Amino acid sequence: MKSKLIVVAISAMVLMVGCTNQKPETPKEQEAELAFPKGEIIANNNFTGTAWLQMLVNNDSTYNTSIGNVTFEPKARTNWHKHPGGQILLITEGRGYYQEKGKPAQLLHKGDVVRIPPDAEHWHGAAAEYSLTHIAISPNTDKGSVVWLQPVSDEEYNR
Ligand code: MN
Repeated sequence: MKSKLIVVAISAMVLMVGCTNQKPETPKEQEAELAFPKGEIIANNNFTGTAWLQMLVNNDSTYNTSIGNVTFEPKARTNWHKHPGGQILLITEGRGYYQEKGKPAQLLHKGDVVRIPPDAEHWHGAAAEYSLTHIAISPNTDKGSVVWLQPVSDEEYNR
């Protein structure tokens, strides 16, 4: 009798662990797990590859800050650019890179926080084999909005 109870208890535990370990299968299920929506494909020439943007906070004169959730497919990246008011990136998924002009690229992981100084020329994007999602916080927008520059060439990216 006791051993039967133990078997039942162990079976129940295995079932519970099995359920909590289930990964989302379909894109819809994966989307449902996201804290913020993936948004829409960015349709402009300031990016290489496919990236998505969901604005979370639109700039206004109270906060002088815009906040967007950005997702890059593998190899996708911004052009070189700079923010007169600086920028902070919160990495929420995947792997990618951040590079300031004249410095080595920095590998980014989920949980990393990147502080980008005002007017520092830089780019950010996904790693070659991974997508990257970050929340981009652009403060001090009263100092000016983003200045877009040339694309990050494949040669620069592959370095
Ligand atoms: Mn930036």
